[in-house]
Amino acid sequence: MPHDISPLSAAASEALFARAKAVTPGGVNSPVRAFNAVGGTPRFIREAKGAWLTDVDGNEYVDLICSWGPMLLGHAHPEVQAAVLEAVTRGTSYGTPTTPEVELAEEIVRRAPVEKVRFVSSGTEATMSAIRLARGFTGRDVILKFAGNYHGHVDSLLASAGSGLVTHAIPGTPGVPESSTELTVVLPYNDRAAVTAAFAEYQGRVACLITEASPGNMGVVPPEPGFNQFLSEICTSNGALFISDEVMTGFRASNQGQWGLDGKHEGWTPDLVTFGKVMGGGFPAAAFGGRADVMASLSPEGPVYQAGTLSGNPVATTAGLTTLRLATDEVYDHITKAADVVKAAVEESFTKAGLPHVIQSTGTMFSVFFTDRPVRDFDEAKTTDEAAYKAFFHAMLDQGVYLPPSAYEAWFLSSAHDERAVSQIVEALPYAADVAA
Ligand code: PLP
Repeated sequence: MPHDISPLSAAASEALFARAKAVTPGGVNSPVRAFNAVGGTPRFIREAKGAWLTDVDGNEYVDLICSWGPMLLGHAHPEVQAAVLEAVTRGTSYGTPTTPEVELAEEIVRRAPVEKVRFVSSGTEATMSAIRLARGFTGRDVILKFAGNYHGHVDSLLASAGSGLVTHAIPGTPGVPESSTELTVVLPYNDRAAVTAAFAEYQGRVACLITEASPGNMGVVPPEPGFNQFLSEICTSNGALFISDEVMTGFRASNQGQWGLDGKHEGWTPDLVTFGKVMGGGFPAAAFGGRADVMASLSPEGPVYQAGTLSGNPVATTAGLTTLRLATDEVYDHITKAADVVKAAVEESFTKAGLPHVIQSTGTMFSVFFTDRPVRDFDEAKTTDEAAYKAFFHAMLDQGVYLPPSAYEAWFLSSAHDERAVSQIVEALPYAADVAA
């Protein structure tokens, strides 16, 4: 067992980070990219190809972040790249309808349980717009969400659970006034009794319940069998809309997202679904969609206003369309097999090192909790040993594996994670597990 692994040089990343911090808060444009939770300097990436990232110091890493989900086919996929380059030669934004946005909408409607979609530029916009639409359609105001579920940085959804089982939420960050969250109710995930109690307490007032289709933002915490079906049914029987947030899981957990793993077989469909990440093929594109009668409430067809200068951008929708067309069953089979190899290696090396671990998956997505019991909700996710993850993270990074710099994230693979990339992960694990134990 090599115990003399020294850190890779990060001089150029450190220099850029110093410059970045002088002009950007924390030196990053999204907090998840910072190393605040694990310590040290985020690596500035110069280029990426397939499963590999190359940083500005010339170090190569196997990428287990995949841009936080979007890069299903790996980086710089030749066909996506060619389609994007071709699209760019025809101009980059017209502010008029275009062909690729129609084709991407058709592809999404073909795969996902939605009749109509509207494009936006980020997952945050998608959930924000879906909530507005649900309120406009139902004429109600209360929204239900789950603790540990992230739906972007929408004011009303950046809410923490208050004390008590069913209480209105408290703002999750300074800058969100209490008035923005007082109509939000935060419930423990996978807890049917809490959901039932919330509908009873806010009878006739609940516009919608929004849930990650399978939460990935507290690590992967799948819905217990039948939980999404229960949510769909209780929403319907209470006249509320069921919003399934598939920004992370859409076209990632399976070719039809999480719904392809549960709803399709259980015979229910969400009223609204939000998408992002994979459907943008690495560009800023996202969407929300659902029942035709609900979507008909959206402007210009209906009264609920929603708009966007760059929505359905032709370059972004070309990247998304090309990605989805290439996302065949073989792609998901490949990622599943690669994930199985990595999970088995985690199991073996963590067990040998005596490091507590629980691996949780949904479809192709998985994460590793540094704890000894199954995780069903946010409180249980927080039992993960953050200090052990921190040590593990750096031991992997030093061996050329770039994991998410947080203990509460999914580990993303792509169809470009071939034998060489997977071997590099597998070979790095025993040392990192020893260091963390
Ligand atoms: N919903 C889910 C489930 C997400 O995972 C995310 C982002 O990670 C969002 C919404 C917000 O998407 P974006 O970061 O594109 O605004």
